[in-house]
Amino acid sequence: MSSSAALPVSFEFFPPKTPEGVDKLRAARQRLYALKPEFCSVTYGAGGSTQEGTFNTVRDILAEGVAAASHFSCIGATQASVREQLAQLKAMGVQRLVALRGDLPSGYGAGGEFHYASDLVAFIRAETGDDFHIEVAAYPEMHPQAKSPDADLLAYAAKVKAGANAAITQYFYNSDAYFRFVDDAYKLGVDVPVVPGIMPITSSTQLMRFSDASGAEIPRWIRTRLMAYGDDTTSIKAFGLDVVTDLCDQLRNGGVPGLHFYTMNQSAATLDICERLGL
Ligand code: FAD
Repeated sequence: MSSSAALPVSFEFFPPKTPEGVDKLRAARQRLYALKPEFCSVTYGAGGSTQEGTFNTVRDILAEGVAAASHFSCIGATQASVREQLAQLKAMGVQRLVALRGDLPSGYGAGGEFHYASDLVAFIRAETGDDFHIEVAAYPEMHPQAKSPDADLLAYAAKVKAGANAAITQYFYNSDAYFRFVDDAYKLGVDVPVVPGIMPITSSTQLMRFSDASGAEIPRWIRTRLMAYGDDTTSIKAFGLDVVTDLCDQLRNGGVPGLHFYTMNQSAATLDICERLGL
C-alpha cells in the first residue's frame, strides 16, 4: 500500500541551445508546475561550457516564482572563477546549488584548482557560510570511476561532512541498491536526506547511451524487453511507465524523502508517472 501522497518532487532540466528549445522548455515547465515542485534544477556543463544557458534558465524559473537550484561543477575551475559565479548566483537570488565535480569533455586539459566535489562544497561553505542549500550527487550503484563501493561511499561521506545538506542520486532501476546505500551511509554517521533521481523510460537508445556513460545499470529483464520492442515507441513508453511507476512506488513505500525527476526537458512521462502515483 502506498504511504503519503504528499511526497515532495523536484525536476531537473538542461539549458536549451536554441530559442525554440527555450520556448519548448518554458511550456514543459508550466505543465510540470501543476505538481508544485519543491524546486527545479538546471544542469551545468563541466568546464563552464553552459554557464550562460544555465544561469538564464535558472533566472527564468525564479521569475516564474519557483525555487531554482543551479548545478555547479568545479572541474577545470579556479577559486577566483567559482567565487565570481557564487556572487552572480547570489545576486540572482539563487539559494540552492547542486555541487559537483563534473566530467570535462575530451580535449579539455585536467587543470583547475578543485579535484573533487568535496573540495567545492568546502570552498562554498568557507566563502558563503549558510547562504546556499547544497545538494551533492550520490551513486547507489557506485560512480563508474570509483576504486570500490566502499571508497565511493567514503567520498560521498566526505562531501556531506564538507557541508552538504542533502543528496540526489544517479538514476537506477533497482530500489535495493538505493536502500543499501542509504543504510551504509547511515552506519557511517551520514544521515542527510538522499533523494532518488528518477529517469523516466521513453526511448531505448537514449537510455542505453546514458547508462553506458554514467554507470547506471539497466537490469537485464528491462534491457531485454526494450530491445524486443525495437522501434515500437508506444510499447516502450507503456512499459517504461509501468516499470518506473513501480520503482517510485517501492521507493515511496520505503520512506524516501522525495523524488527528483530527470525530465530531459519533457513533461509527458514525468506527469504520467506522478499521476499514476497520485501525486
Ligand atoms: P565526486 O564526488 O568528486 O566523485 C568523483 C569520483 O572521485 C568518484 O569516483 C569518487 O569515488 C572519487 N573521489 C571523490 N573524492 C575522492 C578522494 N578524496 N580521493 C579519491 N577519490 C575520490 N555533470 C555535469 O557535468 N553537470 C551537471 O549538471 C551534472 N549534474 C548531475 C546531477 C546529479 C544528481 C548526478 C548524480 C550527477 C550529475 N552530473 C553532472 C554528473 C557528475 O558530474 C559526474 O558523475 C562526475 O563524474 C562526478 O561528479 P561528482 O560530483 O559525483 O564527483
